[in-house]
Amino acid sequence: MLSPALVLLSGGLDSTTTLAIAKSQGFSCHALTFDYGQRHNAELNAAKKIAQTMGVKSHTVFKLALDQFGGSALTDKSIAVPDFQAAATAIPITYVPARNTIFLSIALGLAETLPAQDIFIGASSVDYSGYPDCRPEFFTAFNHLANLATQSGIEGRPFTVHTPLLYLSKAQTLQTGIALGIDYSLTVSCYQASEEGLACGQCDSCMLRKKGFEDAGLADVTRYSKA
Ligand code: ZN
Repeated sequence: MLSPALVLLSGGLDSTTTLAIAKSQGFSCHALTFDYGQRHNAELNAAKKIAQTMGVKSHTVFKLALDQFGGSALTDKSIAVPDFQAAATAIPITYVPARNTIFLSIALGLAETLPAQDIFIGASSVDYSGYPDCRPEFFTAFNHLANLATQSGIEGRPFTVHTPLLYLSKAQTLQTGIALGIDYSLTVSCYQASEEGLACGQCDSCMLRKKGFEDAGLADVTRYSKA
């Protein structure tokens, strides 16, 4: 029997690649998507379609109103999503306070229930916006916490938090995904996509994705709102 894994699936390029990697490693995959008060539903709709297309065992869409505390351009509509700035060094306003800690905590609870000892998350510390909860030391610390904090961890069924994209550039991620047969036109990465899933082409996430296709020498299949 295939070993079960829980994969965090946002509907973007990275999490979709992570799902394909987990499947290719022989895991039977369950998907978890957060409806966390994002600016748009395009990502959620993409996640549902991807989960279906990629044949996950189950897909949980977990409601979590992070817009209750806001503090991010992704969860507070009164804060504009900034255009990409090449020389930016500060953590951008698209950082969602404690997001990966919150997401992984819920994933941990769901994984313990399923049960699944393997949790996959598609974070990268290479082509990213400088978020502190995308760094390798964060995932190492969370993995440690997961095994201290759970019945499963204490009873000898430890969790492993897998971050297969952690040291991959966007281009390498795309190449990996293409080799695994992913249709990236299904994925939505834009921080302010239209309801139809059209990307703005201006935000950090759009720019990193666009550069990834360029660097990988692949045609950009992203659907943009303007030419
Ligand atoms: Zn965008």
